[in-house]
Amino acid sequence: MNRSVESTDRFKTRNFDASPSMPSSSSDYITVEEDDSSDSKEPIPCTLKSVEDLLSLTKSLSQDDLQEMITKCKDMVLESAECSEERKWLVRRLIELRLKAQELRETSNEKALETCVILGHHFTPQKYYITTYNSVYCDHCSGSIWTMLQSWYMCKDCGFCCHLKCMSNICRVCVHVIASEVGGYTYTKDICPERGLSAQGYRCAECNVKITFTASQGLSLSCFGSPFKYTESSWVEPRLCDYSGLYYCQRCHWNSLAIIPARIIHNWDMEPRKVCRASYQLLSILQNKPVLLLEKLNQKLFTLIPDLSLIKRLREELHMMKQYLVVCPKASNEGLPWRSGLRTHILENSASYSVKDLVDLQNGTLIDEIHLSYGKMKTHITQTCDHCKARGHLCEICGNDEVIYPWDTTVTTCQLCSTVYHRLCRSKRNICCPKCLRIQRRQSTNEEASTSKVNDS
Ligand SMILES: [Zn+2]
Ligand SMILES: [Zn+2]
Ligand SMILES: [Zn+2]
Ligand SMILES: [Zn+2]
Ligand SMILES: [Zn+2]
Ligand SMILES: [Zn+2]
Repeated sequence: MNRSVESTDRFKTRNFDASPSMPSSSSDYITVEEDDSSDSKEPIPCTLKSVEDLLSLTKSLSQDDLQEMITKCKDMVLESAECSEERKWLVRRLIELRLKAQELRETSNEKALETCVILGHHFTPQKYYITTYNSVYCDHCSGSIWTMLQSWYMCKDCGFCCHLKCMSNICRVCVHVIASEVGGYTYTKDICPERGLSAQGYRCAECNVKITFTASQGLSLSCFGSPFKYTESSWVEPRLCDYSGLYYCQRCHWNSLAIIPARIIHNWDMEPRKVCRASYQLLSILQNKPVLLLEKLNQKLFTLIPDLSLIKRLREELHMMKQYLVVCPKASNEGLPWRSGLRTHILENSASYSVKDLVDLQNGTLIDEIHLSYGKMKTHITQTCDHCKARGHLCEICGNDEVIYPWDTTVTTCQLCSTVYHRLCRSKRNICCPKCLRIQRRQSTNEEASTSKVNDS
């Protein structure tokens, strides 16, 4: 149980706004001390006293003045010594200048920066949005993006990030497009369908660069020097993607970890595996989509995992309650059934699951979520709402005045006429439904009457 909790935590942190997994090298990364306490009142290092006026924020500035100051400040940052007080101060000032410029642009009502569409991605410029102190890496060249100095773009659909300079060379089609193209959202249902490196012509499945296993694999290229500056003729260590079963170069495969849907379906295995960037992004955007018809895919799971059969039963009961709540005006005022805190697809149908549902089922949070909503709905129908209470049933067989509901465990519903009886009462009656019998009898007397009428005439 501990293991699964841990894996879920890892799963949860892999969101786009959190820092994604890192490529294997970041040697060409300009280090900036991360400093949350970016206090502009910080004393200026004496060596910079002469430039203070040059970069002053106090005077009123035009957009052009600001741009000029930003360029100057940027140059000074690059000239300053790494980790020095000067650099720290200059970086802080640069952020302030940028924010000022952004503010000015917004107030001057300038046309919004345009989205640019490449290979299905919808790239929005991130240049002036200093929203994160986390490292951002380019999905094309896998180098780090220094968000304060470099222009960069991010796809709003799949989270693909890249340098402005890399944008014209990208080769990965937006996974959001791929996911929605193949007849709605679907997953590869086979576990790591590996075909072998030779079937790929010893080339990366995404960017086509030559890849092969070398004798000193893992040492020669991935640890020393910059593995990303190879030319087309150099050979790179192949990395297997556990989701697609294909091999990739280190630029397209960062050893990111993801839970593999096929492994859950076949083996109830939630251990995260190494996947390429494209698979990682695809699995990330699909993780909340209820696309797994689990019982159809592997019925055995429902007998092996007790919690799964419990969830199935609870979902069926929730559906019966939903029928009451959707027609009750008082319920909709209380936000029932749709705003009860339960993920909507759980209520919409009783068969489909998302990967996140199954991970949450494993760690217990889904059951808690369902129990909570279940309680709220049941209390409304059976205790607080007279309108819903009036729609309860009385068992006709025993004539008891106890109100019964279709989801009660002691109750059974006739498949033909939907009348509700005590399970025990009905079994005493040899499963015959009194209401259905009455209907049958009425029909046959009607028929008799009509035939005798025909005979008379
Ligand atoms: Zn995209
Ligand atoms: Zn790049
Ligand atoms: Zn590649
Ligand atoms: Zn009600
Ligand atoms: Zn009864
Ligand atoms: Zn019946």
